[in-house]
Amino acid sequence: MNAPQPALASGLLDLAGDFPILAQPVRGRRLAYLDNGATTQKPQAVIDAMDAFYAHSNANIHRGVHWLSQHATDLYEQAREQVRTLLNAADSQEIIFTRGTTESINLVAQTWGQRLRAGDEILVTGLEHHSNIVPWQLLCERSGAVLRAAAVTDSGELDMADFKALLGPRTRLVALAHVSNALGTVNPVEEVVRLARGVGARVLIDGAQAVAHQAVDVQALDCDFYAFSGHKLYGPTGIGALYVRAGILADLPPWQGGGDMIRTVSFEGTTYADGPQRFEAGTPNIGGAIVMGAAIEYLRGVGLGRVAAHEAALLAEATERMTALPGIRIVGTAPHKAGILSFLVEGIHPHDLGTILDTEGVAIRAGHHCAMPLMTHFGIPGTARASFALYNSSQDVDALVAGVRKAQKLFGV
Ligand code: PMP
Repeated sequence: MNAPQPALASGLLDLAGDFPILAQPVRGRRLAYLDNGATTQKPQAVIDAMDAFYAHSNANIHRGVHWLSQHATDLYEQAREQVRTLLNAADSQEIIFTRGTTESINLVAQTWGQRLRAGDEILVTGLEHHSNIVPWQLLCERSGAVLRAAAVTDSGELDMADFKALLGPRTRLVALAHVSNALGTVNPVEEVVRLARGVGARVLIDGAQAVAHQAVDVQALDCDFYAFSGHKLYGPTGIGALYVRAGILADLPPWQGGGDMIRTVSFEGTTYADGPQRFEAGTPNIGGAIVMGAAIEYLRGVGLGRVAAHEAALLAEATERMTALPGIRIVGTAPHKAGILSFLVEGIHPHDLGTILDTEGVAIRAGHHCAMPLMTHFGIPGTARASFALYNSSQDVDALVAGVRKAQKLFGV
């Protein structure tokens, strides 16, 4: 589907031209978009897929006898297959479309979670996004289960000794991020799954920051649940997916009730659809799923191996250049990191830094990154965060470094 992808002499990808928004000046400056952890920009191929769906294929799915409905249904189910391929799931019937990572995790908490009882334990890590903490707290309030959080080391890694100490026969679920959105730490998910298996616990992986940055294989990981969002994957907002291992999915109680999730309805009793449809009540985000499929195709065309190498090179360059500046503290120094650089500049609040960078056309994120327990661990209110995507370049790193220098001059630090 994609033309051969341009690469620079350095081996870095050169794909900014695929993304129209990047050509748009911001505050009169060239845009250096480094807020990819929050959401990614969309390539023309994805924008075209959105147009094409509404211009040629729009209809409601699954119930229609007419051609357009069948066509839209085919495209929607093809998108499920594209997600299957992205995650290397064994069967597309293990893929549930959701609004995104947050909804995927809440779905697990509200369906699978119904089996938890007082005294059962859920084990997360100190690195989690609020969306992988709060649904479990709500579940604990309902069920009497207990939420435990494994400690984080000074380098921003999961403290495996603490994790092992907290994991035990009461642990029913381990829920952790594949990649930390706040620090970029890549968690040792394979080892975590292996240890969790040893005590018979299920494992949920929050893949929000992973799927667009490295190849993911849920069969090799051997996890039970894997959640992600389309908008962090060069696709639209309002769509994402949840992988549920087939044997578990078959036993999950329904979630929301409504059309499309049933087999038969009567006042005497209703029976429910099998497979992912049981969890997709009502008209789903049909266009969103199909356009997310186009985003997955785009990413596959580039190749996740090349994306990972590109972002690793940019992270290394940015880390080296930022570390060379005076008064910089990098927060999160794990040896195995994805393309996220969290940092503090002595004497400048991250929000002030973000505002000054914005005047230079550099978009970063400043704050707690929806990971307040992690910030508390480091004793800081927040950080400045630059997060990289396949379209970023050394020029963006130049703009970041120059912007930080400018802020330091303005603040006289
Ligand atoms: N988990 C992680 C690690 C994230 O980075 C995010 C988004 N920042 C989420 C969960 C939530 O994703 P969404 O808002 O798309 O549901």
